[in-house]
Amino acid sequence: MNDVLVGRALAKRFGQTIALGGVDIAVRAGEAVAIMGPSGSGKSTLLHCLAGIMKPDSGEVHLLGQRIDGLRERERSALRRTRFGFVFQFGQLLPELPAEENVALPLMLGGVTRVQAVRQARDWFGPLGLQGMETRRPGELSGGQAQRVAIARALVSKPAVVFADEPTGALDQNTGRDTMRLLVEATKHNGASLIVVTHDPNVAAACDRTVEVRDGQLLTGAQMTFPEARR
Ligand code: ADP
Repeated sequence: MNDVLVGRALAKRFGQTIALGGVDIAVRAGEAVAIMGPSGSGKSTLLHCLAGIMKPDSGEVHLLGQRIDGLRERERSALRRTRFGFVFQFGQLLPELPAEENVALPLMLGGVTRVQAVRQARDWFGPLGLQGMETRRPGELSGGQAQRVAIARALVSKPAVVFADEPTGALDQNTGRDTMRLLVEATKHNGASLIVVTHDPNVAAACDRTVEVRDGQLLTGAQMTFPEARR
């Protein structure tokens, strides 16, 4: 159907540890999905397998009908740059670059000239409430502003899927709520799907749907501890 990203029977172990024990997940176009679960349950491993950062030991990942888990590292790297966007807990902006160049970076890595990439990057500052912040360095931004720069950087390449790992984990509650709302709205506005790994029920509540991971397995129905988020 209109599934954008599909993981089938994803399994991954690290030595004796089964990080993923056969996970099936499908994310639809424009959908925001939260992945919750206790520390060590396999959330990050699942995100990394879906995003082509890590190869699963077995199982398949399909993006828009194309199988991507078997691609070589070089191809997966190109895919991550062009079809996926990433937002991490601490933004991971490059401290020596002004905000506009941090946003422009994925375009420049894809071969767009610096001038052109920065011009495109600037278009994101207004809609994300960052007017006037274009030439500030990350150290001159608040935590919430830095995360909005990271959101712009994740969206600038017009990705099919944005992956976020605890995107509000370093923010206070109010800033986190505003940032999460903006992340969901901006991602949907740009036609991308969103997959968010989080411990925070408030973050999950901003998404359309929550899946829960426990010991490398997805919980279903009555097993879930956040049934109120099940929609
Ligand atoms: P979560 O994101 O839910 O905290 P992870 O996916 O990071 O969980 O980890 C799942 C399990 O796999 C944990 O037991 C963790 O210790 C183990 N694990 C994850 N990455 C590695 C690694 N690179 N080497 C060894 N063990 C790992």
